[in-house]
Amino acid sequence: MSARSSNATTHSPTRGAGSLVADGKHVLEQTLAPPADTSEHTPLPQARKLTRCSVVVPAYNEQDNLESLHARLTAVLAGTGADYEIILVDDGSADATLEVMRKLAAADPHVRFVSFARNFGHEAASTAGLDRASGDVVVLMDADLQDPPELIPELIDQWAQGHDVVYAQRRRREGESLFKRLTAWAFYRTLNAVTPTPIPADTGDFRLMDREVVGQFRRMREANRFVRGMIAWVGHRQTAVQFDRPARHAGEAKYNLFKLMALSLDAAMGFSTFPLRVATVLGLITTVGAVVAGSAVVIHKLFFGLAVEGYALLAAGIFFLGGVQMLLLGILGEYIGRIYTQVQQRPLYVVKEER
Ligand code: UDP
Ligand code: MG
Repeated sequence: MSARSSNATTHSPTRGAGSLVADGKHVLEQTLAPPADTSEHTPLPQARKLTRCSVVVPAYNEQDNLESLHARLTAVLAGTGADYEIILVDDGSADATLEVMRKLAAADPHVRFVSFARNFGHEAASTAGLDRASGDVVVLMDADLQDPPELIPELIDQWAQGHDVVYAQRRRREGESLFKRLTAWAFYRTLNAVTPTPIPADTGDFRLMDREVVGQFRRMREANRFVRGMIAWVGHRQTAVQFDRPARHAGEAKYNLFKLMALSLDAAMGFSTFPLRVATVLGLITTVGAVVAGSAVVIHKLFFGLAVEGYALLAAGIFFLGGVQMLLLGILGEYIGRIYTQVQQRPLYVVKEER
């Protein structure tokens, strides 16, 4: 397994705490400020000893991955010497995922599972697992073995040294297309450009969290969820461990371009009001531009006696403005839609079976 190595940079996205509910100015200042790194200045607390580890695995149509995942997880977790539980979350799979989970839970008392009444999505499945985890630390990982279980001891090491969130950061992506890598790259850069909470680049959901962080996470019941951003938002001491991300073990990726775009929107809108500010700035520029251009036409006519011709330009201008207005209405609509789903206060997932 080539997927292990030493730790790296330390991020401490603590300064974002509370800012998202604050006024717009505060949020903008935070957007512009460089990320602060507090961990260098405050000494780490004393070393901690692990007594119980929870592992949460959301799975959607992963029938061919769960057994090898369980075997590898068991080998690694038994080696830590601590008590552990593996919480498998079946996100309304259409294949035999649930049967495999029942079988694993029947054979191994460390395994629990939750099964959803339908597909609620990766973020909801992660949430259901985190809601049930009882360990001192909780590891969140994918079911497809792209997150190597063998990295867990390193994550635990970092936690023992005093870090509260240890995320696995990928150094290289195997078996993923150039397109996927490009979109992922653009996704993190854009996200961090518009959001006040620094969200570490090139991290998936594979991470270890202290129970304190998980407790804070459970209080966040927003409907449009972006789990890694929410955990970054909680703050505390966060650090990274680097690894090479292997290709999927079996089955195919469930994220298509459309799902990725929806997730990006949730991420950008859930973590900043910046897109709303774009409307104000564009409106200002257009208005000033229109005043200047209008004055030029009047001056031309009055002092030089020249009438400006230009129906084509006029029509183009009308279409352009129409387009801009619709776009901005759309952005407004996105936020209103999110407010709507939030006020509905529906549960984040519906459980059909649990053991
Ligand atoms: N997943 C899920 N619900 C979904 C889609 C995906 O629980 O609706 C799970 C999936 O089973 C896997 C993880 O989320 O454990 C990541 O999915 P995938 O491997 O398709 O994403 P990628 O690795 O391409 O980011
Ligand atoms: Mg995957």
